[in-house]
Amino acid sequence: KSQESGSNTYKFIQPQIQEEIERLLKLEKLLSSALEKKELCLHYQPRIKVESREITGVEAFLRWNHPELGCMYPKQFLPLAEETGLIMDIGEWVLETACFQHRIWLKNNVIQKPISINISNYQFQQPNFTNVIANVLEKTDLPSEFLELEITEETIAQDLELAQKTLLQLKEMGIKICLDDFGKGMSALGYLKQFQIDTIKIDQDIVQNLENNSQDLAIVSAIIGVGKNFNIAVVAEGIESKKQLDLLLELGCEEIQGNLLTEPLKMGDTTNFLANPNNSLTLS
Ligand code: C2E
Ligand code: MG
Ligand code: MG
Ligand code: MG
Repeated sequence: KSQESGSNTYKFIQPQIQEEIERLLKLEKLLSSALEKKELCLHYQPRIKVESREITGVEAFLRWNHPELGCMYPKQFLPLAEETGLIMDIGEWVLETACFQHRIWLKNNVIQKPISINISNYQFQQPNFTNVIANVLEKTDLPSEFLELEITEETIAQDLELAQKTLLQLKEMGIKICLDDFGKGMSALGYLKQFQIDTIKIDQDIVQNLENNSQDLAIVSAIIGVGKNFNIAVVAEGIESKKQLDLLLELGCEEIQGNLLTEPLKMGDTTNFLANPNNSLTLS
């Protein structure tokens, strides 16, 4: 009997696995042609210094618009892009597109602060990563001080020696480095000083949980304190409510990013937002 149910279980799981494999294979095929079919696009989200209402940067987010599958978010396709190596071409496209766009915004004086670009672990570990960055800057004619790369602690921890070397080169090129999703992982404060980090983005799960979790409150307070001491900009990410904003201001956090200010916007809407002096009214 037990054998029978065992084989039933087997028959039951097998088609599901089969389906999932087929789904992923199909998605991989679609993703591999997404670039040439021009289905990828970027949305942009500004961040702001709350007191002065000064916009202090803008971050690029990848989107995949498929004619049948609709608009897809990074979590739906980036893991696959990383496993298959497609992330290299996609990542380069993101860098080029965002830097090219930012050069236009700088030229038209809609912003004079850096563009932040998310770098996946695989991208960062490639041996010629700094060359890729240098080429993009040259191709798009973007001054390096206007580029900020967002990486995570996991990316640094993966290969400390490589990270040390790469980050030093990037810093020497004049590029800014942001630690994304900080507070979620190890929160290794030593990294902040060792790697000359310019910006910390406090993880949005922590930000959104602040009201209910006194431990997170203590973590955020410590991060803000260290940031001030090391002269690192601390940005709270994913702020959705006035209550979260007030709590963070109380803790001494000066910069925020999130839907309370604006959700990530299409290119044209971003231009309008950056050019409109009333864009921060939602905060008051
Ligand atoms: P992240 O860099 O930590 O980005 C923050 C995410 O929060 C973005 O999701 C953004 O759209 C979303 N967000 C912003 N404000 C709010 C808010 O107020 N509430 C909520 N609930 N969400 C908010 P998205 O665009 O889905 O990106 C998710 C992650 O995917 C990013 O996390 C980043 O790690 C990665 N990613 C996005 N674009 C790229 C890219 O071009 N290259 C690479 N390698 N990774 C990317
Ligand atoms: Mg980010
Ligand atoms: Mg983040
Ligand atoms: Mg994230």
